[in-house]
Amino acid sequence: MTLRDSDKSCVSCRSSKVSHSCPLCEEAICSKCVMRPPQGAFVYQVNCESDLKHPAYCQGCFAERVEPALEQYEETLAKARDVFVFFVTQRKEIPLIRKSKELLMVQEQEDRDVTILKLAFMGAERGFNAIIQCDVVSTKVRNEGYQRSVWNGKAYPAEVDADKLNRYGF
Ligand SMILES: [Zn+2]
Ligand SMILES: [Zn+2]
Repeated sequence: MTLRDSDKSCVSCRSSKVSHSCPLCEEAICSKCVMRPPQGAFVYQVNCESDLKHPAYCQGCFAERVEPALEQYEETLAKARDVFVFFVTQRKEIPLIRKSKELLMVQEQEDRDVTILKLAFMGAERGFNAIIQCDVVSTKVRNEGYQRSVWNGKAYPAEVDADKLNRYGF
């Protein structure tokens, strides 16, 4: 977003040296008052709202919109790291309590573990402690003349009896 109005002053400190425009409220912000989400914020959250994907905000919008979402994200990410992952190749019996019918899908990822963690995050978001029938495969895609591998993954959220199970360990 660009600053169309050069007479604007910073919404927080009234400095005339504005450097940004808040993507949410469109108020001008100076470089001292600009608020930036930490590096990697929301990366494991598939379908993260577009409002949360901007690099910089005014203090008001950051406090009101971004901070609570970041807290929620960190909480869910911590749960996602504890989610039990059972692959399609799993032969041992899973101590299943309940299973969701919703197929989770993550596509075109650079990395296998990131693909799995994103699936686990989706499971944790839905209140489950496991993902089952997890299937993660790499495929080659052509991108402007060169080939690269991407990872696609799917799984079902499930609740399992957590006692005596080994965690995948992210
Ligand atoms: Zn300022
Ligand atoms: Zn704002």
